[in-house]
Amino acid sequence: MIATQEIVEFKPIVRKTKLWMPKQVLFTPAALQEPWGQQIYERVKDLGLPIEELKQNRLLGLRGADERETYRKAKSTLAVVTAPASALKLQPIPPSADYQFHLAEGCPAHCQYCYLAGSLQGPPVIRAFANLPAILENLKNYQKPNQVTTFEASCYTDPLGIEHVTGSLSETIRFFGEQENMHLRWVTKFDQVDSLLQLPHNGHTHPRLSLNTELVASRMEGGTASMEARLAAIRKLALPRSAGGGGYKVGIVLAPIMPLPDWEEQYTHLLDRLEQTLNFPSEITFELITHRFTPGSKALLQEWYPNTSIDFDESNRSLKFNKFGGKKYVYNTVTMNMLRSFFQAELKRRFPDAPILYWT
Ligand code: SF4
Repeated sequence: MIATQEIVEFKPIVRKTKLWMPKQVLFTPAALQEPWGQQIYERVKDLGLPIEELKQNRLLGLRGADERETYRKAKSTLAVVTAPASALKLQPIPPSADYQFHLAEGCPAHCQYCYLAGSLQGPPVIRAFANLPAILENLKNYQKPNQVTTFEASCYTDPLGIEHVTGSLSETIRFFGEQENMHLRWVTKFDQVDSLLQLPHNGHTHPRLSLNTELVASRMEGGTASMEARLAAIRKLALPRSAGGGGYKVGIVLAPIMPLPDWEEQYTHLLDRLEQTLNFPSEITFELITHRFTPGSKALLQEWYPNTSIDFDESNRSLKFNKFGGKKYVYNTVTMNMLRSFFQAELKRRFPDAPILYWT
């Protein structure tokens, strides 16, 4: 329990984040038969967004003349569909959680290093799943006996980035709040957390905010919330209910860590701001992820963002193979060690009780 007098007033200047509003919202016939699909329909109608009811369950006609036009069209489209039966077969997702599951696939942001590039098939349309109750109910089948089982909801989307058009994240937080030994994890680069603060999460949801330097956020993370806005969101989520916050145990994901010019100075500034933001007792955790890419993600990202300043030069990197033989390029050992020592020392000094869950 935190005494209210321990909380120091803190008022950062926060640039307001523009909410993503799709230019078209498509509903498949199957989605409209689902009560949750109807809930999304009403929400989208109230927002005054253009709705198209499709005649078939497949999404067609979303390609443009080239990859860039396809990208533009897809990223401004929300398709409300039913998740296929294969979505109910959950995959493990170490080190982040025991299992991953999906409320949606695709993301409205425009990160030039996007982790999703190449991992989803077809144009990067944002697909929200209308059969959410079945998706949530299915999670109970994966509960491990007599221990907490963790479920990650942000492998294929940023669930907060589309929450105002779906409501699916709030529903999921409520569901987990009622489960014994099942914890929800999700990560975001958005800041519209007000609707989550009063939810009955019961300590079963662990939201994480993805942070980076101002330079990375402003130049390489298009459509996301500014760093100050994300810091303000962390504070709101982590403050106890008695102080008007959400009372969540919040995580910080520092990703992707990149040794750009002045990186020590820039990350020092970020950690200074984080320390000032969390000027009250809180239980936070850290996850540290360095930048990496695959041959496939590089090719796609360079098509989507031809003027990108991301360093995709393989000659500066070490090659690693995943368990299926896929290649990925990570920083070489010298760079990795330099970055790792910096973050370990700086985090230990500022947040001695906050565990670093993993470094990768
Ligand atoms: S927020 Fe994540 S999923 Fe969305 S564009 Fe950025 S990296 Fe990709």
